[in-house]
Amino acid sequence: MNFIDTPTPLHVENVVKTYQQGTAKINALDGVSLSVEPGEFVAVMGASGSGKSTLLHAMAGLIDVDEGRVMIAGQDLAQLADGPLTRFRRDNLGIVFQAYNLIPSLSAEDNIRLPVPSSRKKKIDVTIDGLLQRLGMTARRHHKPGALSGGEQQRIAIARALVCDPAILLADEPTGSLDSVSGTQICELLRGLADDQGRSIVMVTHEPHVAMWADRICVLKDGTNQAEIKTDGCRDPQTVAQQYQQALGAEAVA
Ligand code: ADP
Repeated sequence: MNFIDTPTPLHVENVVKTYQQGTAKINALDGVSLSVEPGEFVAVMGASGSGKSTLLHAMAGLIDVDEGRVMIAGQDLAQLADGPLTRFRRDNLGIVFQAYNLIPSLSAEDNIRLPVPSSRKKKIDVTIDGLLQRLGMTARRHHKPGALSGGEQQRIAIARALVCDPAILLADEPTGSLDSVSGTQICELLRGLADDQGRSIVMVTHEPHVAMWADRICVLKDGTNQAEIKTDGCRDPQTVAQQYQQALGAEAVA
């Protein structure tokens, strides 16, 4: 087998992003690096303001970075102009947010269909059937978002993120608006997408009982890589919470 020609799905290298707030300069990201392999599920944790969302948005190509590189499937996002970047993002990245961002007037199924380019619309029905089945939403496909629970809406948002079959799924606090049962179901779903389908997943969260579903946890502090926690399949939120607190207390990794 030849592994040399297969680029890492997601490779973030020494990324710097600075914002100006009045006269103050904010280093939202101050040299962050992160690589994610196929089938790997990585959680990003850190205190509020540590740079989690900025990192996710940089990985999604939604913001430019000042220094460093964001490489998706070997492609440096900074090298793509706006149009090609939009198409590249559609084909390689799925993004899920805390607010499900569904169109209220469209059915669940039509929401899933939205990102599909017109050239592929005819062939997408089988994919959508498969996604609805995988997410346990077949019976709810004609419902509008207002008739769905929060957990069901998030499933539809995940289906929409997967409809163009991206290798990478980025999730920003995907369980943040859900009760714990629905939140756990979403975590199990994400875990399955990594295990069964080999998707690379990066999920921002501040909750140990959510982060524990990942293979490892990238801990950010003040826009830098503070530590990395390997969960080793530990599904005990208290252990993960303890490891996280220890990581936050530790000196930054050199
Ligand atoms: P987190 O997601 O960990 O809460 P963020 O990535 O949202 O952190 O923010 C990191 C830092 O960058 C914070 O100090 C925040 O105020 C600042 N920041 C983020 N986005 C902007 C922006 N668009 N303009 C100015 N400052 C920003």
